[in-house]
Amino acid sequence: MICGQQKTDGIHILYGFICDSCELEIVRTDVMDDKYAFFVNRMKQIFYKKDA
Ligand SMILES: [Zn+2]
Repeated sequence: MICGQQKTDGIHILYGFICDSCELEIVRTDVMDDKYAFFVNRMKQIFYKKDA
């Protein structure tokens, strides 16, 4: 869901799925990092599905 890869290891959340590597990367990403904003945006798309 985050990286677009189909993996079996990871966590399932509300409407999506975060694979192990993405989960690790999110945890390790600094809040000030540009990457963090990217992750947050992807998370928003997962948690707040537009067709809800
Ligand atoms: Zn991933």
